[in-house]
Amino acid sequence: MKPPLRLASLAQGKPAGKRTGGQAGGQELAAFLEEHRRKVEPLHKQTGLASWKHQTTGLKKWSLRVESLERKSAKIYADAKARKKLESWRAAPPREELNARHLEMTWLAYFRERKEPALMRRIIGLQVKIESVYNNFRANLRGEQVADNRIADILADSTDLGLRREAWEASKQIGAKVHEDVRELARLRNRNAQAGGYPDFYRLQLAAQEIDIDELYRILDDLEARTEAPWIREKAGIDAELCARFGVTDANPPPWFYSDPFFQQVPRSRELNLNALFEKSDLVELALATYDGLGMEVRDILKRSSLWPAKGKSQHAFCTNIDQKQDVRILCNLTPSARWMETLLHELGHAVYDKYIDQKLPWALRTPSHTLTTESIALLMGRQVQSADWLGQVRELPAAEVKRLSALIARDRRRALLVFARWALVMCRFERALYEDPERDLDSLWWELVGRLQRVPKPEGRSAPDWASKMHIAAAPVYYHNYLLGDLMASQLERSIRTKVAGKKLIGNKRAGAWLRKAVFEPGARWKWDELVRRATGEKLSARDWAEEVVGKD
Ligand SMILES: [Zn+2]
Repeated sequence: MKPPLRLASLAQGKPAGKRTGGQAGGQELAAFLEEHRRKVEPLHKQTGLASWKHQTTGLKKWSLRVESLERKSAKIYADAKARKKLESWRAAPPREELNARHLEMTWLAYFRERKEPALMRRIIGLQVKIESVYNNFRANLRGEQVADNRIADILADSTDLGLRREAWEASKQIGAKVHEDVRELARLRNRNAQAGGYPDFYRLQLAAQEIDIDELYRILDDLEARTEAPWIREKAGIDAELCARFGVTDANPPPWFYSDPFFQQVPRSRELNLNALFEKSDLVELALATYDGLGMEVRDILKRSSLWPAKGKSQHAFCTNIDQKQDVRILCNLTPSARWMETLLHELGHAVYDKYIDQKLPWALRTPSHTLTTESIALLMGRQVQSADWLGQVRELPAAEVKRLSALIARDRRRALLVFARWALVMCRFERALYEDPERDLDSLWWELVGRLQRVPKPEGRSAPDWASKMHIAAAPVYYHNYLLGDLMASQLERSIRTKVAGKKLIGNKRAGAWLRKAVFEPGARWKWDELVRRATGEKLSARDWAEEVVGKD
């Protein structure tokens, strides 16, 4: 799994204070919210368009335009008087739920965007600079500039261990280029958080995402404990297969044995080569069939999107909602592989969520309830590539073939979820520690976590800022828990579909599509994420359904 970067703005809620019964400034509040929309809506759209141009062309002029628009936006949110007003309204929020939520979401935007003016320019400037380095960097492999896809191909396919090692090392070159800037960015982010009364940026971000740190780490600790023994077992199986493939014996294989630079996805198994299923496939046709089967129209989205590799273009994948109306687009770099099939379904999952949000909601509420809820839909859709239903109905493999593959697919799916969970735990714990103390020895910390959680040893004698080769740390900070919580929510939604929705399955079931639209997409940000999960599935978010699927019942 390649967790694609989602660049659309975060959409979270902060709990409303006790309703003290006041009517919260009534008309004055309504006028304020309308004025806020009037200022922010066009800026949001211009930024979305400029960012899109930058991501699709890599041209410097567009990143400069994004930077200047972001400064304009930051200025709006630096208005201390406006924030004070919002705070006073929050102390006695409107009785009407939708108005209260509208107030809350607007206040949150001020809370999230709050930057000390002196730091603002430096933080934004540094972020833009770092992202530009990531987007334009091409690693040097055996004297040749190579794209990320070339390194991905080698790690996925090559049995030449020397070449694999060099490709893996090449994938880390970017770390040395950016690590000082990323560490400096962490310091600046912390100073900004501390000016707002938070111990560090990590805690500020979680507060802005309305996630309680203790609750989050209860879930993560629970996941770590639940997956410890199954991971040791599965990884031993993965390692044995890789050793057999490379014709070596190694109880503790080095990181370049795995099929991607971070071991965040399952190495392709010999018996089950999902890539072979897509070598002659039209990924876009398969995506259309998937979403048609749910009664969701994605042709309009695809028409606006950028799907194929191009010079200067971002090598990543994301979905963006340009105007919070219906200009939703995705960016991919499709090649005929299982990975890009999954990524295409993933990004379109974000896209249909955005598209089917109730357009009658106030502009500020026309976003997903939370990043974790939109990730849950994207992950749910991406996972389908590994489901027997999808391979049979959408990929149209013969029933006997699907049956033959089923046990292997189930094993790979279990492995994929485990591999990703153990990797995501590295990211969560690393970022928490990074912001707790940006001066610590991050190079060693990274390998301690990778060693403990993924059980991948640091190559002997290696001393390099390998953590900084992960773009998310700079570009999508304090975000990874959303993938994990999103994975848990995806399992919870799947169980609801299997037990509560007519047809009892997702693929090819328009009623399941209608249920997702009604229960998850349409409400937009009308409800806080935990309320949305409870309303949709009847229970609060937990690791139970995920763990049951991955490691069996308790
Ligand atoms: Zn995503």
